[in-house]
Amino acid sequence: MPSSFHSHETDAPFTHCCDCGCDLMGADMYIINQSYVGTECVFEFAMCMTCREEMNAKLSEQSRVAMFDFIHDHAHMDARIERLGTESDTEAYLETCLTCQRDRKEVAGFTSGAMFTGQSLIKGPFPMIICDQCELKLAETVSEQTRDVWEKFVADNFPAPPSDIKLPRRRKPVVL
Ligand SMILES: [Zn+2]
Ligand SMILES: [Zn+2]
Repeated sequence: MPSSFHSHETDAPFTHCCDCGCDLMGADMYIINQSYVGTECVFEFAMCMTCREEMNAKLSEQSRVAMFDFIHDHAHMDARIERLGTESDTEAYLETCLTCQRDRKEVAGFTSGAMFTGQSLIKGPFPMIICDQCELKLAETVSEQTRDVWEKFVADNFPAPPSDIKLPRRRKPVVL
């Protein structure tokens, strides 16, 4: 596992799903999301695919379609996959925002998303980053219900996070 995807809290790889608590090494697949402001990680979690799918199922149909459309309209997925394939350096996938193509060094903040099986990073559409401005635009396309699902998830799983003030509560739908 590339160390950039280690937990910043423990300085070691994630071991358990933040939602159901299962052992990630025993899960088929899991995702890691990490939000940065500048170079500081302000929010992070790992989640198994089962929990991920359960969460997606709670989102409204309208929001799922809106998020899909936003990504489809703004991310040049085919070109990206053609350019990067599945064997590029990890950093190459993380250089620019998926949906506005701005350089990571030029944005104020961003969220990364990566999929793993065991300790192995799965390359393809992931890993990816979305900048804070695109997250905002994306959040505007989703329903209140979807934002509520996300806020409840944060409240349930992160009752007193250390960087509470900076948490992107209002801006981040569950996308990556
Ligand atoms: Zn889980
Ligand atoms: Zn962007």
